[in-house]
Amino acid sequence: MMPGGVNSPVRAFKGVGGTPVYFARAKGSRLTDADGKDYIDYMSSWGAIILGHAHPAITEAVTRAAENGTSFGAPHEGEVRLAREVLDRKRKIERVRFVNSGTEAALAVVRLVRAATGRNKVIKFEGNYHGAIDPLLAKAGSGVATFGLPDSAGVPESTTANTLPARYNDLDHVRQIFEANAGEVAAVMVEPVAGNMGLVPPAADFLPGLRSLCDRYDALLVLDEVMTGFRVARGGASERFAVSPDLIMMGKVIGGGLPVGAYGGRRDLMEMIAPLGPVYQAGTLSGNPLAMAAGYAALSELTDDAYVSLEATGERLQRGLILACEAARVPAQIQRVGSMISVFFTEMPVRDFADAQTTDRALFGKLFHGLLSRGVYLPPSALESWFLTTAHTDADIDLTVEAFEEALREAAV
Ligand code: PMP
Repeated sequence: MMPGGVNSPVRAFKGVGGTPVYFARAKGSRLTDADGKDYIDYMSSWGAIILGHAHPAITEAVTRAAENGTSFGAPHEGEVRLAREVLDRKRKIERVRFVNSGTEAALAVVRLVRAATGRNKVIKFEGNYHGAIDPLLAKAGSGVATFGLPDSAGVPESTTANTLPARYNDLDHVRQIFEANAGEVAAVMVEPVAGNMGLVPPAADFLPGLRSLCDRYDALLVLDEVMTGFRVARGGASERFAVSPDLIMMGKVIGGGLPVGAYGGRRDLMEMIAPLGPVYQAGTLSGNPLAMAAGYAALSELTDDAYVSLEATGERLQRGLILACEAARVPAQIQRVGSMISVFFTEMPVRDFADAQTTDRALFGKLFHGLLSRGVYLPPSALESWFLTTAHTDADIDLTVEAFEEALREAAV
């Protein structure tokens, strides 16, 4: 009925083998499948869930909103409340527009940076993923990487001719691309913490270096914070790494588990968007009252304490996984930023897409299934980040580490 039986490709288990599990419900840190088996969830709906599943504040907000109408197609207070919260957390954002997914945000941002600069080329990074949009699928991470596709079929060369892929964490490469395309680069778009080739943190000089290069070559800096926004710090990666972008894309956490994306940034740029300016972007369900209510409830629960607790849980898991890999004598890199973490089965720290691809995917596949049978659900690909929530307890982490030890010992023979 559905291609691959799924509505988004990585869900089909093609990256790990076997057939996907169907889920019936979720609560806190647990997913329950259609047969009633429980799993500790590390996919957290690809990072959209940060307070645990079915958090009472979100359920109540969505229920109350639904009673007042599922969609107006017109302005309402819920949009203003969420916008105010976003602007409060992200001081560099002067204007924000809500859309329905990260993909939609990317679509709008590419159009906007081209309109604003009168240039067509965009520098992106190998292994970064910005949604399933034509110009940015070249050398993309996430499912494109899981399936080993160089890029997607059906995208005209004329479209990707304006996409300039660079190596992540390699400022010299970015500089060379700027030099080779003098006066033609509209923007650099980057995942400030790469989460779509497994988890790859930015080197200390990388994000500030990109800011300087963009300033030097008169290009805009776009941070894709769809994964990191409101997750790696109260104000997202721009706060955690003290970098000032011109535009930011958001999604996942900002919708509390409902379909939301957003983009925002400098007022002069955002005022180029219709109806104030000539850049067209629109959406029937944009600013949907249920999604706005869920997002606002989620952000309201994300206090400073919540980030302290996410960091501590992340550290506990990282420490446990490092010890487990050492005990099993399996070379591994456990990379983490806050509540985003992943395991690469490789000898050296992973800094870019080429490094990420050295991970032992067959071993990951075996580990994945070993954990699945023990009631731990990882994202079904070696090249995806795992996400923690405030609902993950120390006991959950300890159970997970124990299951990981067993599954790894079994998988590594
Ligand atoms: N940007 C990043 C960094 C992402 O991780 C994703 C989704 N994984 C997207 C954009 C696309 O978002 P969506 O799936 O909501 O369209």
